Amino acid sequence: MARKGVPRDPHGEYLATRDRYVRCHVDGCYRKTRRCSRYCIKHYERSSKFGGPTVPALTWRRDVEPLYGRWIDAGLTRLKDHPATLAGIKLAETVIAWEMPPGTIRYRSDRATGALTLLLRQYEVKPIDILRRVAMLNVYLQDRPTVIRGPRPERFAYSRAVLGLLPWRKGFKMHQVGALGHEGLGQLVQTQLYGWAVKFIARLHTDAAERDNLQQQAQSY
Ligand SMILES: [Zn+2]
Repeated sequence: MARKGVPRDPHGEYLATRDRYVRCHVDGCYRKTRRCSRYCIKHYERSSKFGGPTVPALTWRRDVEPLYGRWIDAGLTRLKDHPATLAGIKLAETVIAWEMPPGTIRYRSDRATGALTLLLRQYEVKPIDILRRVAMLNVYLQDRPTVIRGPRPERFAYSRAVLGLLPWRKGFKMHQVGALGHEGLGQLVQTQLYGWAVKFIARLHTDAAERDNLQQQAQSY
């Protein structure tokens, strides 16, 4: 008789009910869970770095830059004096300048976020570079809606996109950033810049479509 909700091993044998709390919750993973977690050590670490136990890593130099880098750069240069771009830069500045409001009891995630924005200031990250990264990630995610899905992995991706601007050669280590930091910074970046990025990418698409149109008109004698 089928026992509902009781997990089986790869051979169809029922696992002891107790095993539900001992085996990793990722399908196909039978490692023991880490204490106080649903996941084994491997999936727990992936979850705290990328926002989910099976979220794939995004390598900027391999996956994103070669595809969108020049397109975004050309757009930012062309529209650099546009009021929307200037407002975007102001918003990126507010991300860099963010501090935990003094004298208030705050969540731990706020403290972690404050530590990260302090790093952005210490390493003198430029607002325009933040815009560039956010725009690239935005179009990358738009074009591949199945790669990184769900609000939490997306927040982590935005956080990692911005933190990728910090120089690891000078001592910044991405793997030392905890889940609370990614959660908080990612949310801050999204709140400030997501709307800008969507409009900016839409504008670049319109510009490209108009260019195609002109090409067609120029050839329709
Ligand atoms: Zn696992």
